[in-house]
Amino acid sequence: MTPAAVAPRQHALRKHRRQQIVKVSNAASTPKVSVENGDIVKVHFIGRLEDGTIFENTTRRADPISFKIGADEMMVGVEKAVKGMTVGESLTVSCLPEDAFGDYDEDSCFEVPIERAPEGLALGHVRLFDGPATCRCTKITESDFTLDLNHELAGQIVSFELTLLEAVDPLARFPVRKTDEEWKSQLPTFAYQVLRLKGTEPAGAGEYDKFYPESGHFRCGGCDQPLYSAAAKFKSECGWPAFDKCFKDSIVIEMDDSEGMKRAEIMCSNCGGHLGHVFEGEEKTPTNERHCVNSVSVKYVDEPIAYLPVECKAMPDA
Ligand SMILES: [Zn+2]
Repeated sequence: MTPAAVAPRQHALRKHRRQQIVKVSNAASTPKVSVENGDIVKVHFIGRLEDGTIFENTTRRADPISFKIGADEMMVGVEKAVKGMTVGESLTVSCLPEDAFGDYDEDSCFEVPIERAPEGLALGHVRLFDGPATCRCTKITESDFTLDLNHELAGQIVSFELTLLEAVDPLARFPVRKTDEEWKSQLPTFAYQVLRLKGTEPAGAGEYDKFYPESGHFRCGGCDQPLYSAAAKFKSECGWPAFDKCFKDSIVIEMDDSEGMKRAEIMCSNCGGHLGHVFEGEEKTPTNERHCVNSVSVKYVDEPIAYLPVECKAMPDA
């Protein structure tokens, strides 16, 4: 292919890319969605060092990053900046080391006797053990070599040009919707952390763990929707309140891959509040289902319910 034949195509690509950027920057033509905790966002970014060097660029790869706000999945400075952005908006943010790749720590540099050098040692990234982890070799002398365990961008101020492409609120499907600030002011701190940030109370520590009332029911700690009858609570000895059935349509289930486990998360169907997880097949009660619920996610009410709800399993029959 001749250079002349290549040139128009490159020009066309450049033009296309410019148009894409114009489109996403045009906030006026896209719905205003202000990002807050819990949203799942898609962001294009260009990461730049103080000397102007670009160290990472998702715009050029046309491959945005996706992460959940408040789930500790992204660099602190980027998450802080994206919070409050609206879809289509672009901004540049400068991050201090503590909000980027961390401060440079002199104590993370080690001089190692040359006898312990791995075969073929050279300056740059080296692998000392089997496995994917590497560290940097920054100096080699006749007697020793220096390993630097700091991130290679530690101690640097880095800037990001960010464009918010998409923000989705996974809780939008729930009838009761409140902002993060509203939940924070309504709920005690720990209840907020469990119900809204999907935390877990320590085993054996909850108010209702060993509480077995003979009547009444348990409601959602966030929105008061009745969830479980007192009769559904059973002794599981697992450290958290356990129920073997729930009021029909009061619970929704979502698969949860966090903490290296595949579990079925249970949430209040009215407000999306996190209750805990549901387990099957333990053969502890006739329903063969254990709703492992945080005490702080529910509240006990010593009253019958005005209507007579049907009680059932939450998981679909296999
Ligand atoms: Zn609720």
